[in-house]
Amino acid sequence: AKRAGRNTHFFFNEGMREEAEQHLLVHSDILRGLNANEFELYYQPVLNVNTNKIEKCEALIRWNHPDKGRVMPDSFIPVAERTGSIVNIGNWVLQQACKDMRVFLEADIDIKISVNRSVSEFYSTKAYDTWKAIFKENGVDSHRFVFEITESLFMEQNSARMSVITSLRDIGVQFAIDDFGTGYSAINYLRNYPVDYLKIDKSFIQDLLIDEQDKTLVEVIIKMGRALGIVVIAEGVEELAQLEVLKQFECDYIQGFWLSKPQSLHHIIALCHEHTDG
Ligand code: C2E
Ligand code: CA
Ligand code: CA
Ligand code: CA
Repeated sequence: AKRAGRNTHFFFNEGMREEAEQHLLVHSDILRGLNANEFELYYQPVLNVNTNKIEKCEALIRWNHPDKGRVMPDSFIPVAERTGSIVNIGNWVLQQACKDMRVFLEADIDIKISVNRSVSEFYSTKAYDTWKAIFKENGVDSHRFVFEITESLFMEQNSARMSVITSLRDIGVQFAIDDFGTGYSAINYLRNYPVDYLKIDKSFIQDLLIDEQDKTLVEVIIKMGRALGIVVIAEGVEELAQLEVLKQFECDYIQGFWLSKPQSLHHIIALCHEHTDG
């Protein structure tokens, strides 16, 4: 016991104490910010390149902070995942996405919303009931939602977590594997846990025109998706030349700055209208 105590002391050093304190500050600031309505969802459209229709959009969280201004998710989501406030954020995101879905439908826009989910949101056995209740309270059809998760969710076989996924699929929620290609590449999970979409990570698309190996991998992922009946979405398309290569590989869906940056709900609705008007 003494030895363990000494080891603990060795590992839990001053730097870690400061980090823990910092995390706690961010944690309570997140909870305060949620209460004060400081968060907002931006949307980035996903284009079907065959029909030229915007069929989906991805919700991306922004924090309009009173002191710090616009705060991007990469600077608080990882902390929220460690402190647990990701559950509060995730529930807020789904709630807001449901409200925004009603606005899309009222504006006559037929669309699916894709929301990002962290692995740690699936730890709670209440996750399914909570999310199902959010759909119901807002009177929106769960078929209109896609949950973006990362491969790491499938890595440790956890039956409680998997039953959350199965239950959501049963009520029509679709699943996308985000950042595909950057994870563990133990693709056998695709056999046991069917998913609807693979999103090729933007790092592959960014090097598509300059790196032969990345180009080959992108082609193979698209072929594999087709063979397995999984829709492939290419993320981070910034240039027409990248789109051209993706079309050649028969990739059906793209997302990225070439089409549009993430924008406020109001702007994305205008963009969708422009798109259908030709
Ligand atoms: P992600 O899910 O991979 O989202 C795509 C990110 O790439 C977004 O950054 C988006 O703005 C950016 N992006 C889109 N198109 C392009 C492009 O053509 N070029 C480049 N260079 N970047 C592009 P953002 O909005 O800063 O989000 C960062 C990450 O934060 C997301 O990565 C996601 O992992 C996480 N995140 C965002 N919103 C949520 C949320 O509501 N819940 C959770 N759990 N995570 C979220
Ligand atoms: Ca995503
Ligand atoms: Ca991604
Ligand atoms: Ca990511």
